[in-house]
Amino acid sequence: MSIITENIIELKAQLPNNVRLIAVSKTKPIEAIQEAFNLGQRDFGENYVQELVDKKDQLSTDIIWHFIGHLQSNKVKYIAGFVDWIHGVESEKLLIEINKQAAKHNRKINCLLQVHIGQEETKFGFTVEELREFCSRIDLEKLNHINLSGLMGMASFTANQSQIKREFSDLSKLFSELKSTTFANNNSFSEISIGMSGDWKIAIEEGSTMIRIGSSIFGSR
Ligand SMILES: *Cc1c(COP(=O)(O)O)cnc(C)c1O
Repeated sequence: MSIITENIIELKAQLPNNVRLIAVSKTKPIEAIQEAFNLGQRDFGENYVQELVDKKDQLSTDIIWHFIGHLQSNKVKYIAGFVDWIHGVESEKLLIEINKQAAKHNRKINCLLQVHIGQEETKFGFTVEELREFCSRIDLEKLNHINLSGLMGMASFTANQSQIKREFSDLSKLFSELKSTTFANNNSFSEISIGMSGDWKIAIEEGSTMIRIGSSIFGSR
């Protein structure tokens, strides 16, 4: 059995039913994705627009594509015709552009708002205050080619488990708060995308519904 197959079987055996596994295939070859696909894996995550576009053309249309990287507004048009999920929406401008491009294809794209929970300066996303402010005035009726589906975040790159737990917990609490206010009548607001290879177990304890796993499936990059 190949290592990719072994990794997926082992991971799946540990996941609760309500947690969706997103196989993060950035920088990995088509054959690696195909192997995971043959095992029944359907959700794949990519970080780079050009790489995603190239790969998508060589693979089954049954794949559910998650864009998980930093997305520039001027590149949304290249993926709007086929991408199912965009994690990491970090500005109003980007959300409006996704809505506009999805409309051209008469599609609805699931979007997750990225919250800056880690300590690193380089990690993108709304601060908690910015997100509260944005959600308090968001006009969901206007964004009719978007499902605002929940929140996404990345914990600090640290070995300190209690810090990671605290950061995930903060995001989870914010999710619950928004779900009972802004999104009280919006069933699509239901996902918490937290957890990567190094911290997915903690993320699940803190309410993750989507884990994004790269190296623990496909090996280091
Ligand atoms: C690369 C990446 C992942 C996967 O990281 P691993 O540590 O390899 O599991 C998850 N989420 C985002 C946003 C990424 O950029």
